[in-house]
Amino acid sequence: MPFDWTVNPYRGCTHACAYCFARQTHTYLDLDAGRDFDSQIVVKTNVADVLALELGRDSWSHEHVALGTNTDPYQRAEGRYRLMPGIIEALASSQTPFSILTKGTLLRRDLPLLQRARERVDVSLAMSIAVFDDELQRSIEPGTPSAQGRLQTVRAATEAGFRVTVFLMPVLPHLTDSVAALDDALRQIAEAGAAGVVHGALHLRPGAKQWFLQWLSREHPELVSSYAALYPGAAATARRDYRRWLARRVAPLARSHGLTRGEERPARARPLTGGTPTLTLQQPTLF
Ligand code: SF4
Repeated sequence: MPFDWTVNPYRGCTHACAYCFARQTHTYLDLDAGRDFDSQIVVKTNVADVLALELGRDSWSHEHVALGTNTDPYQRAEGRYRLMPGIIEALASSQTPFSILTKGTLLRRDLPLLQRARERVDVSLAMSIAVFDDELQRSIEPGTPSAQGRLQTVRAATEAGFRVTVFLMPVLPHLTDSVAALDDALRQIAEAGAAGVVHGALHLRPGAKQWFLQWLSREHPELVSSYAALYPGAAATARRDYRRWLARRVAPLARSHGLTRGEERPARARPLTGGTPTLTLQQPTLF
């Protein structure tokens, strides 16, 4: 993994993706990994102040910090709490390079700030767009901006001078993995100006798996047995032969649209904590 540190200003996420791998983390708060994760959002209201203190320590070695590796920093609550500008300022003023991965079009609000931050530190941006069929997207990611809205954000960030990576993740077996669907998605990603693309098959960690399979039984019962074969027992990853098949399918399509392999985020990162400063957790807020 290229870096160890991450900041998550929110716990829970109103984007409410049925497949979200962060769901299980909500159970650490005695909330459930299903509807509570989607609606009971914990807001770290003093995150920027604590971050500035921690980044100001003599021991801080200015390693890369990743945002968006657990929950989405530009989810709906960010419009109200505006935590990201303070985080960006704290990182840039401490000479700490950072990256942001999001599904949120609210990223556009902070592009001028990110441009100024980039004059001081390396800043990389990535947009997650997994589902290009509007009906399927509203069903499986009901709180997210549309794929078109996210593509427009990729375009805006590109025009602001960033090399944006698109995460075509998760690819959903039998739902978004046809040649036609992948080709259409990659074409739109390239037309939006993305510099690279990273793809990955659906990953079903505990917490996410139960919630996703409920969604699948309700919306696509005809696929339940196929998914049981692809993700047998407690398996979180799709069978290796499927993942290899998918990689062979995506690679030539991505090349044909001039997309290189983008910069990947780590699957796990160490939370930025330690020492005396502590984050004030606001009571869960119902969105
Ligand atoms: S946007 Fe990301 S963090 Fe939010 S629910 Fe979807 S997958 Fe989870």
